[in-house]
Amino acid sequence: MSTSVLVLGGTGEARRLAAELTERTGYTVVSSLAGRVRDPRVPDGAVRVGGFGGELGLAAWVQEHAIDVVIDATHPFADRITTNAVGAARRTGCGLLILRRPGWQPRPGDDWRWVSSLLEAARSLAPAERRVFLATGRQGLAAFADLDDHEFLLRCVDPPDPESPRPRKLEVLLERGPFAVEGERELLREHRIDVVVTKDSGGEMTAAKLVAARELGLPVIVVRRPPPPEAPRVATVEAAIAWLDDYAG
Ligand code: NAP
Repeated sequence: MSTSVLVLGGTGEARRLAAELTERTGYTVVSSLAGRVRDPRVPDGAVRVGGFGGELGLAAWVQEHAIDVVIDATHPFADRITTNAVGAARRTGCGLLILRRPGWQPRPGDDWRWVSSLLEAARSLAPAERRVFLATGRQGLAAFADLDDHEFLLRCVDPPDPESPRPRKLEVLLERGPFAVEGERELLREHRIDVVVTKDSGGEMTAAKLVAARELGLPVIVVRRPPPPEAPRVATVEAAIAWLDDYAG
């Protein structure tokens, strides 16, 4: 009998996991995307798009589709869907695994400031850190909205919501990773950036900005991850498959 897996996605790891599992016998896989990005990178295999309607909606979906295991491979900062996954697994009795890539670690030469939120990042900007590179995605822009003396360069996949608050001096760069060090160095230089703001997303796809900032001697404000849920957790796609093989036993 095949094991039915729901992969909560929106990350490179989730796409890789779905691709690996669709190739294997013994698993039926459906990936779920929130539907935020206009033109998402779609995983291999079956895909559903859009919210479930909270913990109860997710639990109902899991039951209706006879899901055996939920793998939460969402972004480390997507903590609402993760909380819902923990609750839905508890309600339905299905298996749950969290797949989270490790966070970034500072290296010699790095000048990092850790903060707990985007609001704290905004508050910690020094007046001399006038030109700010926001590598934080479009959804956190409101945290910087009342900083009139700073100039922001926001890089994101889709344009920020025109209705949501934004800083007065804002330039938006629509680009999707992966990014290379040379390009990042060029970007930081060209825009005469004084400071970089990032979430501790981890992974290789967007780490080049950290190397470029180190090389240019620029400070980086790093937003800490929300605490991980109390659930089995692995850091790689390979470990997730090993866990699943064991679970499906
Ligand atoms: P979030 O705050 O944790 O979730 C908000 C709501 O979006 C959830 O309650 C759920 O709606 C829906 N949702 C989120 N992920 C979903 C998924 N994979 N499938 C179906 N519904 C989902 O999430 P977020 O930070 O807005 O991120 C949304 C998606 O973008 C995630 O899938 C994440 O992997 C991806 N992403 C996020 C970031 C980031 O920095 N946050 C960066 C890159 C990619 P219902 O309650 O209605 O079910």
